[in-house]
Formats: sequence, structure tokens, C-alpha cells
Amino acid sequence: MQYPLLPLRGVLVFPGLVVPLEVGRERSVQALERGWAGDHRIIFASQRDPHEDEPGSADIFGVGVLCELKQVVKLPDGTFKAVVYGEQRVRILGYADEADLFLCDVEPLDDEAAPDSEETAASVLSIVHLYEQYLKLGRRLPGDASLSISTDEPGKLCDAVAANLEIPIGERQEVLETLNVAERLDLVHRILTRQIDLLELERKIHARVRGQMEKSQKEYYLREQIKAIQQELGEKDDPATEAEDWRARVEAAGLPEEAHEKAMREVERLEHMPQMSAEAVVVRTYLEWLTNLPWSVETDDVLDLDAAKRILDEDHYGLTRVKERILDYLAVRALQPTLKGPILCLVGPPGVGKTSLGRSVARALGRNFVRISLGGVRDEAEVRGHRRTYVGALPGRVIQGMRQAGSRNPVFLLDEVDKMAQDFRGDPAAALLEVLDPAQNDKFSDHYIELPFDLSHVLFITTANLAQHIPQPLLDRMETISLPGYTEEEKVQIAKRHLLPRQIEEHGLAARDLELGRGTLESVVRGYTREAGVRNLEREIAALCRKAARRKIAGQGTLHVTPRTIERQLGPRRFLGHDLRKSDEVGVATALYWSEVGGDAMPIEVSVTPGKGNLILTGKLGEVMRESAQAGYTYVRSRREALGIGEEFPDQVDVHIHVPEGATPKEGPSAGITMATALASALSRRPVRADVAMTGEITLRGKVLPIGGLKEKALAAHRLGVRTLIVPRANQPDIEELPAKVRHALHFVLVEGMDEVLSTALRPGPAH
Ligand code: ADP
Repeated sequence: MQYPLLPLRGVLVFPGLVVPLEVGRERSVQALERGWAGDHRIIFASQRDPHEDEPGSADIFGVGVLCELKQVVKLPDGTFKAVVYGEQRVRILGYADEADLFLCDVEPLDDEAAPDSEETAASVLSIVHLYEQYLKLGRRLPGDASLSISTDEPGKLCDAVAANLEIPIGERQEVLETLNVAERLDLVHRILTRQIDLLELERKIHARVRGQMEKSQKEYYLREQIKAIQQELGEKDDPATEAEDWRARVEAAGLPEEAHEKAMREVERLEHMPQMSAEAVVVRTYLEWLTNLPWSVETDDVLDLDAAKRILDEDHYGLTRVKERILDYLAVRALQPTLKGPILCLVGPPGVGKTSLGRSVARALGRNFVRISLGGVRDEAEVRGHRRTYVGALPGRVIQGMRQAGSRNPVFLLDEVDKMAQDFRGDPAAALLEVLDPAQNDKFSDHYIELPFDLSHVLFITTANLAQHIPQPLLDRMETISLPGYTEEEKVQIAKRHLLPRQIEEHGLAARDLELGRGTLESVVRGYTREAGVRNLEREIAALCRKAARRKIAGQGTLHVTPRTIERQLGPRRFLGHDLRKSDEVGVATALYWSEVGGDAMPIEVSVTPGKGNLILTGKLGEVMRESAQAGYTYVRSRREALGIGEEFPDQVDVHIHVPEGATPKEGPSAGITMATALASALSRRPVRADVAMTGEITLRGKVLPIGGLKEKALAAHRLGVRTLIVPRANQPDIEELPAKVRHALHFVLVEGMDEVLSTALRPGPAH
């Protein structure tokens, strides 16, 4: 008889048992398939060495088992699971010559039955007992073959027991090869007895080891307790060592004399304190702070203005004027390091590069850089720290920043100085003033540190969104530099030269993985962002980089994005061009406003209904805007006839002025002339030119007063497609400072009085 043979490693199938097997090796799979294709018969025989991956016929035991394949399932990982039933012992007579498969000739082997004697019966019984004892000793059983053993067939009993014992494969094979059942009974008896002995021994050892462990653990706890008790009693084991340690650290920290003395006193105190006391913890934390502050560490300045200019240019596109002023500032500091000059304050909307300019200045000077945000700080203690008597007290943000800086001359950026609040806990601005004041900041006192710290080597730079919100005493110390925002063209350039390359690098991409043309960047700027700075632009570019990264991982090559395909990556455009009115309308005029996020435009609407001479104001109007509206109303009233307004005004009509909720103007008077224009238009029925926008404060007599934020407003007007911009004459100098591109694209009408505003903004005749 010839059958395919499947070599087993470390397991054996005995006759009479059902066994699940996993099959993975190529040759074995072949055998399985061959067997399954035929009469489901296959030979299982064990390898002598389970670790042999490619056994030859000589590596396989000479006796195996003929089995029936009950079930064969292919698993998702390509291997097979088979359930087999052992039918019959067989001797392998020889192997047929087939390269990829063991095919073998076998002859069946029959058991030599044991004599039907009492001795056999006793043997059987004994094996059953031993086996139960074996199970009780707590060996896990393979499978569920716990005790479905029939005692009627001693041979099968032996096979089943042998299959379930944890014994070496050689011994199992021996059981398999022992055809004489009486001998087999003896053999299994011997094996079982030995296994039980082994298990008992193992158990004893285990118990002993555990006893030892428990003993040593107990000793450990006791020792720990003794330690704790000693500490409680003040009998520390090595307070001297700890104190020595601290002394060395204090010496190494380069403290100035006063601080050094104080630190040493604290170490001494610590030495005489119970080590685990709460107070000792406080002292340690304090010493930690003292020794980690950069009392005397200083970096060497690089005072090379050309290099500084190069670095500022490298990091930032445009901003020529700002960079010039920074360089002037640095030049003065280089010549006169002790000069007690003003502090630089970079003022502008978010994302215009204030923080990153600060970082560049640090790089240019070869100094360390730290930044702390003062936004929302309302408590003096946040600047100056809490006294050490408070549990969990810490130094203030300035000292924390210094520790982080690691040198005593960093560039220190104080972000959002306009966002500090003030309340009953003291004025943080006053504390900040001390930080910034060159006359006193060489002895800055933090409540926690309780020692003067020298801040005079620090180069402080502050930032703010709106200069008006900076507390006056602080503002007096500052030289403000304004960064109003970028034009579309500038944003595209910044994206191309800085944001895109940086994001590509940060996302682990190469330049070729993401292709964006200029036009695409323009579409991102226009369709997905509406801001003075470039923060959202950077975010959108990061989104594109993520898409490119996915593509790269998937092995799909470069991501090309064009203005046409961009919506596939970023979703539908969020902003569709500008939202100025397309046609001239009666009673609607466009005001320009600015807030901390930059400039923008809003429509102001006026409608007139028959009534009793009321002025109704709705929408988002603060007190100042209400007053401006009143002023505009009075002006229009006084010019009624000249403006061609009928006699029903003011007594027989109600005038309703509305500023849409969506607009979030800064509370200010600069919408005055716009409200007056919309009023005049609504009452005279003369339409307002759609391409005109304006900004200016109005007096009762129709004079136009200057306003702030013209640069931001002009940038917004340019972005929104305004063509004519009406501005107070007094603001003319601001126009000179605008980027040439904006200055040339806009037609500025400089006005002193309301009459000029109306003659520019209103169409000559009434609408029909
Ligand atoms: P701010 O501090 O004004 O809110 P950031 O300094 O955080 O703004 O700037 C936001 C991002 O825009 C940064 O990644 C910055 O490098 C970048 N950025 C802003 N302006 C420029 C510019 N002119 N050239 C290059 N990158 C710029």
C-alpha cells in the first residue's frame, strides 16, 4: 500500500484518537492535498528532531499511523488546518521516489493483545489511578481528552494516556512502537510514575522557593519600615551625603554672592530637617530652581549686521521696512550694549510673522530663544511668582522662561502683551514694567526666588495684535513696529518660498512628491483663506502635504495639484472671490474696519419707512458707533435741502440703520462717514457706487477726522476688489507706507468734509 506521508514535529497521532493539526510546510501541504484528493488516507509519522525544517526520509521514525482526513480547511494566512483520525499503526517499508512529496509503502501493524488476566486488569486500574493523580497535580491537558478512556481496551488506554502526557516525543514514539499491549501497559505505567514523581518534586521546589521569597519580602518591608521610622525620628541614614550633593551643585551653578549664601543656608537647613518632611521637599524644590537658573551662563553674541540681515531675509519674505527697523535696533545695541533704549514691540494680526521674526533675531545674534504668552494673564503672581509659603508655589513666567532659556542673555519674546487683564490680584502690567525697565531689571525680584535676578542682559521683544490695547505705561517704553498683513501676491510668495518647502520637509516628503504651481497657490490663498497673515494658508498647505504623504506611501507617485483639481484635495472652496456688491444700490455703503485679526469690509444698510422721525439702530453696534450714527443723522438733517431730500424727513419717516451681525468691527468711530453716506443715499434715493469703500470719523458738522488701521483696511480693500477708497486727508502719510502694489491698484480719494465723501460715493441722480 502506498500513501503520502506528512512528517510531524513534536506531536504524534495515536490510533483511535481525533487530533487537530496545523500544516504549513510546502511538502506537507502537498501531502495533505494528495491525500485529500484520494481516499482521504495519509500517513502521519514523527520527525526525530522537531527543529529540522527539511527532514529527509532518514529523519523520520520508521513507525507511523495511517489516518483518515476528516476535515481540511485553508486558513487566511495560507496554512491549513486538518482534523484527522488515527486508524492504524503502520511500519514504513520504503519511500517512493518523488521530489516534492513523501510517498511511502507501508504495512499495517496489529497490537498483540494482552492476556485476559487479573494482572492485566490490575495494570489497567493502576494506570487509571495514576493518570487521575497526574491530572490532580495540576497539569493542563492538551485538548479536552481528559478521561474519555475506555478501560476495556488496554492498548487504546495506553495510547490515549501517552498522547496526553507531557513527555518527550521519543517516549511517545516508544509507546507507539510497542505492539505488545502487556509491554505497553508496563511502559506507560513506568512513564506515568516517573512523571508524577517529577511533578511532585517540582511542586516541592516551588513551595520552597515561594517560602524563601516571602521571607525575603517580609525582610524587605521590615527594613523599609525601619528606615521610615528612623526618618521620622530624624535619624536619617545619610543626610550628610545629600547635603554634600547639594553643596556641590550650588558651587557648580555659578550663583552670585548673595544667592550663593542663601542657597548654602538652605542646604544647611535641609541637613537638619527630617528627610521626608514636607518642608524638606519645599527646600529641595527651591534649591532645584536656584541651581538651574542661568545666573552666569551667557552665550557669545554674534554682532555681524550683514549676517543678521542675511538671516532675516532667509527666514522671511518681504517685510523690508520691518527688517530695516530691526537691523537699526540691533546696530544701536551693538554699538552701545548698555543703552537703555526702548523695547521692540511687533504689532499686527495673527500669522504675520511676529513670533518667527523674534526667533530670527535670536538666530541672527546667536542667542537662545524663549517665548512666553501673556494672553489671559490677570494675576501679578503669574509674572512674578508665588511666595514659597504657598503649597506648590512656583516662580513666575519670567523666571520660568529664564530657566528654559538656559542662558542669561536670551532673546525673550513676550507674546500678546495687549491681552493681559487686570483684576483685584494686582496688575500684571506693573510687574511687566519692572521686567522691561532697564533701570530696575538688573534686580528683578520674583516672589518665589526671593533673590534679585539680573535680566538686564536679556533682549526682550514684545508682540501685540492691537497697540491700543497695550497698557499705556508699557506702551511708553516700547518702540512699535507694525506688520499690517500681506497682499495676495506676498502670500503666494511666502507660500512658495517658505511655507511649502518647510511643510514638505516636516512631512518627510521630497520636493518632487508634491507639485503645485503658482496658480494653485493663488487658488489656495483666495479660495481657502481670508486672513491678514498666513496661518490658515500654512494649515492648508500642510493638508496638501498630508495628501501627498498618503500618495507616496501608497506608491502612487507625485501629487499634482492644479487650480482645477484642488477641490479634490481641500474640499469645496470656502471663499468665492470677494463679497462686495456687484451693482450700485440705494441705502447700502461699504465700511472698512479692522480688528485684531486684520482688516475687512462690511456693508452698512439704511432703510427709510413712513413714521414719526425715529432713528432706529440695530445689529452689532457699540456705544461709539451709536454716537457716530447720531452724528451722521444730524449732519444729513442739516444738509437736507442741499442733498435733495424731501420734506417728509425728518418728521414723517423712521430711519433704520443696520450693521450685520456677521461683521465684528472693533468698537470705533471709523464707520461714521459710511453710516452718513448710507443715510444720505437712502433718503435722497441716490445709489452708492458699488466699487467704493470708505473709512473715516464724522463730526456733527460733517468734518471727516482721521482713523487708525489704514494699512490693514487698505490691504483688505485691495483683497476684496475695491477700486476707490475714501479716506480722511489726515491719513495721507499712512498711504505712503502701503506696499506699492496696493497703492497703485487703489484710487485714494482724500477728504476733509462729508460733502466730498458724498460727491464721490453717490451717483448724481436718484434711482428710479
Ligand atoms: P504671529 O506670531 O504673527 O502670529 P507667526 O510668527 O507664528 O505669526 O507666523 C505664522 C507662520 O507664518 C510661521 O510659520 C511663519 O514662519 C510664517 N510667516 C509669516 N510671515 C512670513 C514671511 N514674511 N516670510 C516667511 N514666513 C512667514
